[in-house]
Amino acid sequence: MTAERTTNCPECETERSFYRVASTRVHLGLKVKWRCFECDYTFVSIDGAVDTATT
Ligand SMILES: [Zn+2]
Repeated sequence: MTAERTTNCPECETERSFYRVASTRVHLGLKVKWRCFECDYTFVSIDGAVDTATT
């Protein structure tokens, strides 16, 4: 599993590299918390899919 991913950051309003700050095994799969390198924006993904309901 990679510890970084590149995706659009709504705070920076451009593509940024995010690094993995935490990962937890949940019933839906592997839940990972990501943080932008440039700002402190974080989001959560479950098995690679961004989960906007869990932030
Ligand atoms: Zn950012």
